[in-house]
Amino acid sequence: MVYERSQGKRISNPTGRTKSQSVAVVGGSAAGLFAASLLARRGRAVSVFERIETLEPEERTLIVTHRMRGLLGRAAEGCIVNEIRRFELFTDGRAATIPLHHPDLIIERRTLIQGLAAEAQQAGARIELGRRFHSLHPNGKGLVLEVERCADGSREEIHADTIIGGDGAASRVARAAGWAPLETVPLVQAIVRLPKDMPPDTTRVWFIPQDTPYFYWLIPESPTHGALGVIGESGPETRRGLEQFLEKRGLEPLEFQGARIPVYKRWIPVRRQLGQSSVYLVGDAAAQVKVSTVGGTVTGFRGALGVTEAILNGGTSRELRSLRRELDLHLLLRRTLHDFQQPDYSRMVDLLNDAAKESLGEYSRDEAWKILWRVCLRQPRLLLLGLRGLLMRRRSLDAGQQSELS
Ligand SMILES: Cc1cc2nc3c(=O)[nH]c(=O)nc-3n(C[C@H](O)[C@H](O)[C@H](O)COP(=O)(O)OP(=O)(O)OC[C@H]3O[C@@H](n4cnc5c(N)ncnc54)[C@H](O)[C@@H]3O)c2cc1C
Repeated sequence: MVYERSQGKRISNPTGRTKSQSVAVVGGSAAGLFAASLLARRGRAVSVFERIETLEPEERTLIVTHRMRGLLGRAAEGCIVNEIRRFELFTDGRAATIPLHHPDLIIERRTLIQGLAAEAQQAGARIELGRRFHSLHPNGKGLVLEVERCADGSREEIHADTIIGGDGAASRVARAAGWAPLETVPLVQAIVRLPKDMPPDTTRVWFIPQDTPYFYWLIPESPTHGALGVIGESGPETRRGLEQFLEKRGLEPLEFQGARIPVYKRWIPVRRQLGQSSVYLVGDAAAQVKVSTVGGTVTGFRGALGVTEAILNGGTSRELRSLRRELDLHLLLRRTLHDFQQPDYSRMVDLLNDAAKESLGEYSRDEAWKILWRVCLRQPRLLLLGLRGLLMRRRSLDAGQQSELS
């Protein structure tokens, strides 16, 4: 370890390698560890600072598209617990089934993070557990992070030339570097025994606009158990809504999982300059979440890949440009659906003819523009319904502004 002294405090460059290339990643979860791994593979001296004390993050059942395999390669395999071959959509007594050409993956978050941590370490990154990031400031040579050792509360100053904030929706790195706080929504899910009529390779989705502008889902993590979840607008109401939904269907919650997810409202530039150095954000810290479904795992990996490209290529990244287009398209979809009432959902399911369902299953949610283009070609009346949704959204926003002003 290389230590320097500055203004009476101990400064460490924990990697001890060329300081001009050192990167400190705050947050040892999905996006942060993936960025650490990619940079370490390209020869950067990388240290990851994670506040939890052991590499045992909370367990969570997640559904992602097959795109994750392409991004992570080998690191993806260990965490896959199931594959999904069809979606069933329900609303107001109606149903539609969408077979998937490429199965979705059900993954377990803890195993995913442990696999990514092992890859990052093999590539040469150091993972410092039990370290909570506090603040940062530029000095003449780069950036200085103040980090607390969670075990005894002592503080340490770390020198790095570049910082990546992968510290989630309430990112402290983002606040310290001057980004505005993100709006978040609660996501709650319960682990349940699967209903008897439910095949383990099928995900169910219910649109119930009187409960949530989003939807309920049930994703099987094994032949017997699954995660039933909902996104809401206020925490306690979302949990109550989920409990009522479970009760109506006679499902007993065995365990609850939940946290707040950032809402993507517009592209957040991922880089800020402090002094001569750069601070970047990845994953939830930069709201890299598909706001149509509130899935942030694959988009967070893409954000990490993009930031890595930007660091290695002197600021440019095709991946970030393409991620921005993708997230903007999901924002358009969310705006279209957000004020849908029951008759709109009923009509949407009625309009899903075989050709439209085929297109929905052909591409993944991480290729939204391909889905939209094909579906609209095959069922143009869905486009009209979508435009109506956008118009309703405009009206309700205008009404909101009126009442705020009056
Ligand atoms: C219940 C639930 C279900 C979900 N389901 C899905 C799904 O099915 N599909 C999907 O794609 N997405 C899903 N998501 C969203 C997805 O989990 C997130 O978008 C993704 O995990 C974000 O990863 P991240 O690495 O950006 O941030 P996080 O996973 O939030 O990690 C942030 C890390 O930073 C650390 N940290 C925070 N502050 C500090 C600090 N000051 N110092 C040091 N370390 C710090 C934290 O301990 C944590 O390890 C779900 C989320 C929840 C809550």
